[in-house]
Amino acid sequence: MKYTAIRINTATPAAARSRVMIIYTGGTFGMTYDESGVLIPFDFSLIREQLPALRNLFLEITVVSFMQPVDSSNISPAHWKAIGEIIFENYESQDGFVVLHGTDTMAFTASAVSFMLPNLAKPVIFTGAQLPISQPRSDARENLITSLEIASAKHGGIPVVPEACIYFDYQLLRGNRAKKVESMHFDAFQSGNYPVLARAGVKIDYNVAAIAQPLGGVLKLLSRFDSSVAILKLFPGISKQMVEAVLKTEGVKAVIIETFGSGNAPSAAWFVSCLKLAIEQGIILLNVSQCPGGMVEQGRYETSKALAQIGVISGGDITLEAAVTKLMLLLGEFGVDYTRENIGNALAGEMA
Ligand code: ASP
Repeated sequence: MKYTAIRINTATPAAARSRVMIIYTGGTFGMTYDESGVLIPFDFSLIREQLPALRNLFLEITVVSFMQPVDSSNISPAHWKAIGEIIFENYESQDGFVVLHGTDTMAFTASAVSFMLPNLAKPVIFTGAQLPISQPRSDARENLITSLEIASAKHGGIPVVPEACIYFDYQLLRGNRAKKVESMHFDAFQSGNYPVLARAGVKIDYNVAAIAQPLGGVLKLLSRFDSSVAILKLFPGISKQMVEAVLKTEGVKAVIIETFGSGNAPSAAWFVSCLKLAIEQGIILLNVSQCPGGMVEQGRYETSKALAQIGVISGGDITLEAAVTKLMLLLGEFGVDYTRENIGNALAGEMA
């Protein structure tokens, strides 16, 4: 992935209070109209003029921009790798990171990055906007300013939020717990299974008890992804052909079964035997609920008991976004057997 870097001192002539790196990947946030009315990526060297309020944050900001900013529907593991590497390589010199990203797949990227950086002890704040920064009513300015404030916030010299998060519409959420839930209004994200980490109002109220505490240890980078993952979303009336088509996808190593409610699925004999056959062939089956809140409890109802008996792994209260990225990273880094053993254990606060 090619990118450019520019350094902007927003504090001059005063000394900068903190150093924050902005990683601009694309999305609605950075779009602006050129003279002919065409949407083009925003020129970050002009950010001080666009956002005079930056001066009051007293930051030294380095902006790293992807040479080809992408709509986040085009994000791939190659982009996750690039973001992880940029953070890893600049970790010592920066106090925190803000990643500007399209909202559509932001929860996938924030989840991926949370798993890629074991022992992360500095803030990595993902944000974006529903309206381009060039629009008068855009949410981009508030989202960026507050993200920068959170990324540089310290208490007694220690970062207040040492984890990968999404900041959007006055709420800070754990990245691997968040989901995009809204495409028209500004409140685009929710984390149904984990408390909000901070709310921004007149001041930023941090929910200290819910924020991760790093255990210590040297930051690592894991960046090999294996995309041999599929999703089987259940619906009433799903056919055997459909189920088989997903489970028999050539080369698939893990399939997420997106189940009803607390992890329930049809109890028809054909359905259970299709799943059993896949497990016998070495495919990992992970049970993730279609509900944005609550959790999978295999065995609570008759309709999920068989799943536990044949060896479907419970995803607990994990989001689909965290499940996909965690499977891809574990498969890529450690292979199928390790992934089967560990997919049900929390890695970065993504499940209870
Ligand atoms: N399609 C855009 C993207 O995800 C939407 C956004 O940025 O909010 O890149």
